[in-house]
Amino acid sequence: MRARPASFVKRVQDLPTISCQTLVIGAGPAGSSCAHWLARHGHDVLLVDQYIFPRHKICGDALIPDSLQVLRRLGLLSEVLAQAKAVDHVQCIAPSGRSVDLTAPMAVISRFVFDEILLKAAIRQGAIFQGGLCFEGLSRRPEVDHAVDGAWFRKAGKLVLISAKQLVIATGASSSALQAATVEHRRAPSAMAMRAIVRHPGLHREVTGLQVIWHRALSPGYAWLFPMRDEAYNLGVGVFDVATNWPQQKVNLRQLFQQLIDVNPTIARLLKEGEMIGPLKGAPLRSGLTGALTSQDGVLICGEAIGSTYGLTGEGIGKAMETGLMAAESILASEAQQSSDRLHPSLHYERALGSLRMRYAQYEKANRINRRPWLAELLIRLASHSTGLRFQASEVLNERRSPEDLVTMSGILGLLLKQS
Ligand SMILES: Cc1cc2nc3c(=O)[nH]c(=O)nc-3n(C[C@H](O)[C@H](O)[C@H](O)COP(=O)(O)OP(=O)(O)OC[C@H]3O[C@@H](n4cnc5c(N)ncnc54)[C@H](O)[C@@H]3O)c2cc1C
Repeated sequence: MRARPASFVKRVQDLPTISCQTLVIGAGPAGSSCAHWLARHGHDVLLVDQYIFPRHKICGDALIPDSLQVLRRLGLLSEVLAQAKAVDHVQCIAPSGRSVDLTAPMAVISRFVFDEILLKAAIRQGAIFQGGLCFEGLSRRPEVDHAVDGAWFRKAGKLVLISAKQLVIATGASSSALQAATVEHRRAPSAMAMRAIVRHPGLHREVTGLQVIWHRALSPGYAWLFPMRDEAYNLGVGVFDVATNWPQQKVNLRQLFQQLIDVNPTIARLLKEGEMIGPLKGAPLRSGLTGALTSQDGVLICGEAIGSTYGLTGEGIGKAMETGLMAAESILASEAQQSSDRLHPSLHYERALGSLRMRYAQYEKANRINRRPWLAELLIRLASHSTGLRFQASEVLNERRSPEDLVTMSGILGLLLKQS
């Protein structure tokens, strides 16, 4: 007899049961990449999501270099770029309005389109996808130490049990799925952000790359303005440190968003003259690779559910995909071992995540730039006079250098001395 949430007991009758080797819950970048990699290696994988695809996801829609690298690995880079707006720099704008450009290959693409490309690619590799299944809890075998052997879902009011040897949870920043899985985690997100998509036919000369804006009125956060295809722009505000006073002191993102009109003249024009496409919407972010258990018996957790988004930038698509691939590789590595000395996938996975932790800690440290607009002003001022510093900052964007050097006084001095 399988253990299930007490409230389900009376309602479960004639339960349809499906089974698979690995069940991946959540078909965002993390889940689809994981399912893709498993299926590509001949693994029997079922990918499920609460929504029927394509579906919208609130996001800035920017793919920074780490995302492009994973897409190349998945063989999807040209397919994605064909549907995206490619850009080659990010303009960092200080509170005074002074700016510097950092160069890197990047792209902007609606998540409605992007996530469907990833999902379809996973299906092409052999993954089975089922939408409209909302995860409600883990199924356990009481007779075998309560080991996880599947998950319960609700579909059109009915409960469905899916049996699986291995589970991967990739349900994003919302804490409800982690709660349902009884995975230890922090309820408060790391950050909150709100975005709008606005069409304007006359800004393409003004906004040629990504724009990131720091300003006292936005601290401890920043704003962004990203050009999309078809004369559309994704713009928004993000605020970090929300976990500290959560839930007593919720951030008023709408108010902050309205302030963008006073902070940046291009955004003011866009909002006054442009046509809003869809509503202004906010969503949580989890960063720093902290705030949730990353694995437990029979379950690997990946993507933003474990805080895979970078604290400094709020960019998380690339890292969600990377952790999804790590989860897949861990399952495959365990499978490839002789049964006598087989390590559980979670041991492989924890090792792989361990290699990323230092970098996350550096990004969390570098996040101080969002809390101290004067630091953004200083850095942008210095970089505008120093090609070397601009080059080093571009190296950070391309993940070839730690961001820590750029936000500590000793690091900045070191870099400047090297240039002189
Ligand atoms: C406003 C905003 C702007 C951002 N801008 C950027 C940006 O420009 N660039 C960038 O790289 N990152 C950005 N991010 C971060 C980025 O959106 C995330 O890092 C990324 O989506 C994480 O991917 P994921 O696959 O882990 O989770 P998600 O993309 O959230 O996917 C999770 C999936 O799980 C499904 N799911 C959730 N609960 C259940 C359940 N109970 N049952 C079944 N399915 C479930 C969801 O429907 C969803 O499809 C932004 C985030 C926000 C909020």
